[in-house]
Amino acid sequence: MKKITLQINQKEYEASDGETILDVTKKNNIHVPTLCHWDLLSPFGQCRMCVVEVDGNIGPVTACNAPVWDGMNVVTESDNIAELRRNNLKLILGNHPNDCMTCEKTGNCKLQNYAYQFEVHAEWSQQTIRKFPELPNNGVIEWDKDKCIMCTRCARTCGELQGSYALGFKAHGFTALGAPNDSNISKEGDCELCGQCIDACPVGALQELSVKGKGRPWQFEKTRTTCTYCGTGCNYFLNVKDKKVVSISPCFEAPVNDRGSLCVKGRFGYEHIHHKDRITTPLIRKNGKLEEASWEEAVTLIAEKFTEIKKKHGPDSLGFLSSSRCTNEENYIFQKLGRMMGTNNVDNCARVCHSASVSGLAACYGSGAATNSFDQIRDTELLFVIGANPYEAHPILGLKIKDALKKGTKLIVGDPRKTQLAEKADVWLNLIPGTNIALLNGLIHVILKEGLEDKEFIKQRTEGFEALKKGVKKYTPEYVSGITGVAKDRIIQAARMYASTDKAMIVYSLGMTEHTTGTYNVMSLGNLATVTGHLGRSSVGINPTRGQNNVQGSCDMGALPNKYVGYQDVGDEKTQKKFEKAWKTKLNDKIGLTCTEMDIAMNKGKLKGYYIFGEDPAMTNANVNYVKSGLKKLDFLVVQDILPTETSEFADVILPGSSHAEKDGTYTNGERRIQLIRKAIDPLCGKADWETICMVAKALGIKNMEYSSPSEIWDELASVAPMFAGVTHERCNPDGIQWPCPSLDHPGTKIMYEEKFNRPNGKAKFNFQEHIASAEVPDNKYPLILSTGRRRQHYNNGSMTRRASTIYDKWPEEALELNPFDARRFNITDSEKVLASSRRGEMEVKVQITDRVQPGITFLAFHHRDALTNLLTNDAFDPVCKIPELKSCAIKIEKLNGHK
Ligand code: SF4
Repeated sequence: MKKITLQINQKEYEASDGETILDVTKKNNIHVPTLCHWDLLSPFGQCRMCVVEVDGNIGPVTACNAPVWDGMNVVTESDNIAELRRNNLKLILGNHPNDCMTCEKTGNCKLQNYAYQFEVHAEWSQQTIRKFPELPNNGVIEWDKDKCIMCTRCARTCGELQGSYALGFKAHGFTALGAPNDSNISKEGDCELCGQCIDACPVGALQELSVKGKGRPWQFEKTRTTCTYCGTGCNYFLNVKDKKVVSISPCFEAPVNDRGSLCVKGRFGYEHIHHKDRITTPLIRKNGKLEEASWEEAVTLIAEKFTEIKKKHGPDSLGFLSSSRCTNEENYIFQKLGRMMGTNNVDNCARVCHSASVSGLAACYGSGAATNSFDQIRDTELLFVIGANPYEAHPILGLKIKDALKKGTKLIVGDPRKTQLAEKADVWLNLIPGTNIALLNGLIHVILKEGLEDKEFIKQRTEGFEALKKGVKKYTPEYVSGITGVAKDRIIQAARMYASTDKAMIVYSLGMTEHTTGTYNVMSLGNLATVTGHLGRSSVGINPTRGQNNVQGSCDMGALPNKYVGYQDVGDEKTQKKFEKAWKTKLNDKIGLTCTEMDIAMNKGKLKGYYIFGEDPAMTNANVNYVKSGLKKLDFLVVQDILPTETSEFADVILPGSSHAEKDGTYTNGERRIQLIRKAIDPLCGKADWETICMVAKALGIKNMEYSSPSEIWDELASVAPMFAGVTHERCNPDGIQWPCPSLDHPGTKIMYEEKFNRPNGKAKFNFQEHIASAEVPDNKYPLILSTGRRRQHYNNGSMTRRASTIYDKWPEEALELNPFDARRFNITDSEKVLASSRRGEMEVKVQITDRVQPGITFLAFHHRDALTNLLTNDAFDPVCKIPELKSCAIKIEKLNGHK
């Protein structure tokens, strides 16, 4: 960019062509007041507070949108400028209430600060012209219209940054209102409750309701940490006053949510931390009732029972389910605890979400993780989003997609539902659930038929191409259309677009993995990326979006029945010896049970003792009736959690857990970024989870499990896992490091496989698979397909988000989505409660009639206890990774009138 020189206040400065006067003054710490300007938004030039004098200009210019030029001479302070600014302030204050002393924004209000600076006195605050009596709010954000200065930062933030356009302008002249439209900010409106309009508002017009009266910003102790919800890994500040987390505010320097953006869960989902339901003392079941107990009593009982079970039935009668919500360090010591007890029956909830990614991607490339980084989404030329709904499930990733689309990125969406994203797609592949392999084989068929494959890449960097070529031959667009329900023209168009775009990136999620063919689905997607050479470069690749905050990390840490930390094989002699030496014990070389297999083992009476840490299989696994019957058969169940869950109802001992605000450690997000979480308050129960696990280990007589801090635990795991050898807590501060990071001088890995793949011969492998139908397809008795997913407002089993009243109110009840055609077929009206049932269970649920779902397909999320979706889902699982078929089962719906 061309360099230019200009004078500001008689001093020379360098600038780049294209910069504004305000850009240059900011860079050089020259203060120019602004009200409508926000660095994150495009220049607007409305408030005229940033006026400056420019030599040669008759009148003053607005610094925020005036570009600099070579030889420009700028004056930012003069009597004339000060008078203009003062007059602007008087005009604004003439329409502003004079309650500054009691306004919640006092001390943090730009208008108040400038009035002081420019000596505009209180008599100007009269509110002579505009007066809006009511103070509408949506239970989360209060909107004081009288204080609105029409800077429009809120509305521009909503449109420009969030792409929501829920806020806008009303009326004109003196009655104009640059603030939320009443209907949009209401509960039912388009407002997604990201809360960024509050940060954008320079005055007190928009406020977080629940923070009102809790203190002034300077009274808060701020701790930067990583969000505890989805695997995007946004950063924010926990604001603490009097040892309580009172609010969350944005971190504008975050590596993932680089504009400080948060979704409704990250921004407002903190009430669970101090919720009255928090479990803060150990509980022991006595005569069928859970009673408070001391730590010593609880831990001694666990040690006695687990030792007894092991002695009587052998170590493999014990199981350990680790937590994808908890830190890497906690996952590492929890799986170590299981293995030190002599069993590899160790798993985590990735089993029911992304285990197919681990097995499928590892079969293709040697590692089971995302190939690229989230920030590369903005620069890709084509996005193929399949089986994922990032606008709802990973909203901040969704924002990056919105940015890309604004820049002209093409979009293909593969989804049975017409999601918000599918509505924006250039091509929507509206496949029937469970037909992913056929669709992907069909795309590859077209690519090969039209010669659009990357021949050089295939020759140099892959193996197994001939088998793929032969296999996809019969998957013509006509044949595939018959299986998937997708029009053949769309298949051809999508194949051409994906293959002929240089930078084409795949984003996928549970719509690919939660099938009995989950591993094969992922392999087929891998075939597509590989055949077109969309790998090993920036803004390409194949990227699973991770559901829980640390589902990547819990797998990385070896909370898996077949892998030690860093994906080192259980049963491999050399690895076995290495861990035996490091942990000073004899280890079991037999691969353990997955959590879905442990459900079977419980029911068969083979699993006797189970320690479930921060997970809720009685709500989140498929076919929960079966899970619950297994839990009842256990001799002894330990649950460690922060809040009561469906699963904790079966516990013999409950150990209190600690929330993310109460401990140090690391989470690994979906782009392999290991980020710190930082303790903001002391654990409510007195112990961080890692301390509790160590205490249990000690009571069990396990040596080598005493640590003084999470960073000491990290150093131990890094010493036995080469892919983490270069990572320390210190190096993760502040922005984290993306693995693999094999040495202390390694910067981490933004893009995988730039030179070679992680397989023994360094090549990617094609793995052709035939289409296999879902384990259960609709028939006369159960004529509808049920698919499942997430709602933006809720998270997983809902135990945390259902306790955040603000979030709960936005989606208080689950509703079964039903196409209007099916509604007529079954004579169902909108909002009617029906009985939904499958071969495994039944539930009553409200119906929402919508063409978001196609005829014959229904949809439910699984966040609500009173509509327990997993009573219906199918626990038939993938033979490779054992993931259940949560995305497709057969159900029927019946009118409740007269039925019950
Ligand atoms: Fe938290 Fe995910 Fe929302 Fe980011 S997108 S704020 S990580 S829930």
